[in-house]
Amino acid sequence: MSKVLVIGCGGVASVAIRKCCQNSSVFEEICIASRTKSRCDDLKAKLDGTTETKITTAQVDADDVNQLIELINSVKPDLVMNIALPYQDLTIMDACLACGVNYMDTANYEPEDISEPVWRANYEKRCKEKGFSAYFDYSYQMAYKEKFEKAGLVALLGSGFDPGVTQAYCAYAQKHLFDTIDTIDILDCNGGDHGYPFATNFNPEINLREVSAPGSYWENGHWVEVPAMSIKREYDFDGVGMKDMYLLHHEEIESLAENIKGVQRIRFFMTFGQSYLTHMKCLENVGMLGTEPIDFEGSKIVPIQFLKALLPDPASLGPRTVGKTNIGCIFTGEKDGKRKTAYIYNICDHQECYREVESQAISYTTGVPAMIGAKMLLEGKWNTPGVHTVEEFDPDPYMDELNRCGLPWQINENPVLVD
Ligand code: NDP
Repeated sequence: MSKVLVIGCGGVASVAIRKCCQNSSVFEEICIASRTKSRCDDLKAKLDGTTETKITTAQVDADDVNQLIELINSVKPDLVMNIALPYQDLTIMDACLACGVNYMDTANYEPEDISEPVWRANYEKRCKEKGFSAYFDYSYQMAYKEKFEKAGLVALLGSGFDPGVTQAYCAYAQKHLFDTIDTIDILDCNGGDHGYPFATNFNPEINLREVSAPGSYWENGHWVEVPAMSIKREYDFDGVGMKDMYLLHHEEIESLAENIKGVQRIRFFMTFGQSYLTHMKCLENVGMLGTEPIDFEGSKIVPIQFLKALLPDPASLGPRTVGKTNIGCIFTGEKDGKRKTAYIYNICDHQECYREVESQAISYTTGVPAMIGAKMLLEGKWNTPGVHTVEEFDPDPYMDELNRCGLPWQINENPVLVD
């Protein structure tokens, strides 16, 4: 009898919850709790009667540890699935520790207020020491490792697609395809079209913070940082076609550099159309991507949060998005003394996702692995206490579930490499 508490009820959480409800034998009870309870109630109303999973809802401000503790103690779940925002990762981990409950999320911690002096001082030190300037890194959540170990609890970090599935692909390549992996290129292609001049496919604030930041990659034991969008390649994606892609910093590079022994280079590329980039540059130039509060007619507003209020809700893009995504990893290395390459990837169709769960493929490709990560923990297949990223666990049961639950993968052993 498993019960989960899902925190957040946005685009990704809605897919994860629907997929949990398709797997009622594991997810017998779900409590959906979020800041805006009406969204949880609306989803419950849609799902009641279509699933054997018993659904309840609650209101919670996940920035407040005491509210979280009270909620967890009243629901008594076996696992808390944090599918709110990266801002809430630490408060939810604190509450899980206080209540003795396992934890998982889909994105690593970043603070909402990047001007907070203690955080800022740590951040500047890390920028100098490590050589990348993204606002997020694993150190804040990995600092909980010993506490989770001592409590005998598991915290699974970043079980979405990227991070998430991409790390399972790496663990699978390491276990089954290679003796040594030299290079990993993670390619994230969205060939979808939603018909709006400008919209983001997941939370606009988190998304725009990520893509407007400097790019970076891991090479020969250290980070190399480059100006945003300054490394561009073209790639012909299976199922999508030729696309421009740009090198970005991405969180899983940091953990893969530690866990894939001997890897010499890890890069991450994401596709963007020219129109998206022109809009983003213009918004950036006029200050609309600003993350620090400004005074506006006597009130404080954060420009990027105001922009979020203007942009289409990613959860509303489902009915109008057509086309496919193709996300995967290209590996080079050696097997049995011979040079070898492999490309593991998934192709996902926006409209098929919409027909199944009323969502576009970006929320789908994140929400499905969130459910699978939860399933690994609830079934005890991934049960090492501590704080872990996906590639630290046995990839086989996760990879099987991807095939079973709507994200089938394929391997091309002769891919075109990225120069
Ligand atoms: P949305 O903005 O659609 O949803 C966020 C949800 O969290 C909303 O329901 C929101 O409530 C709720 N929330 C926000 N703050 C709080 C709070 N303080 N207390 C309680 N609930 C809160 O985001 P997405 O669904 O697009 O993204 C969810 C997560 O998935 C993010 O962390 C994102 O970074 C991650 N992600 C990961 C990917 C991957 O591949 N690993 C890819 C895409 C996203 P309200 O309705 O009131 O706003």
